[in-house]
Amino acid sequence: KDEVNIISGALELHRKKVGDVMTKLEDVYMLSYDTVLDFETVSEIMKSGYSRIPVYEDSRQNIVTMLYIKDLALVDPDDNTLLKTLCQFYQNPCYFVFEDTTLDVLFKQFKEGIKGHMAFVHRVNNEGEGDPFYETVGIITLEDVIEELIQAEIMDE
Ligand code: ADP
Repeated sequence: KDEVNIISGALELHRKKVGDVMTKLEDVYMLSYDTVLDFETVSEIMKSGYSRIPVYEDSRQNIVTMLYIKDLALVDPDDNTLLKTLCQFYQNPCYFVFEDTTLDVLFKQFKEGIKGHMAFVHRVNNEGEGDPFYETVGIITLEDVIEELIQAEIMDE
């Protein structure tokens, strides 16, 4: 039965879109660029349980980089380091995909080397009067794609 699920999951990947399986932006645990990495904040980040955390500047729409939890290993909480300083040191890249990308295409991109196996999801917003602009709407990870492939939840908590 598992094999049948995986095969049908694989055959359905090209029908499913990133926007249907992503984690919505409002549900994403993020940090602001000007966060001070004191003891309290680092503990809170650890408690969140996520291994990668998007970092934004000014507004949550404006994601500028990604923090890997392992980047915190050498941070001394007594130094009150700015998250911005740490991010400028590591300069982890961000990848963007459109919300209407199909999962087979995204899966291939993850395999070909999206570092960290997380991508940010955006769309072109051309509603309203002004010029169209890119709107960030969520995040998607390799785990989200694999769950669709095997058609089951992965419990990792
Ligand atoms: P982790 O290694 O941090 O547990 P996974 O890639 O295993 O992340 O993803 C598990 C689920 O959590 C996925 O649905 C993914 O979209 C979501 N996720 C990953 N990082 C975050 C985050 N910073 N905030 C909210 N959800 C996240």
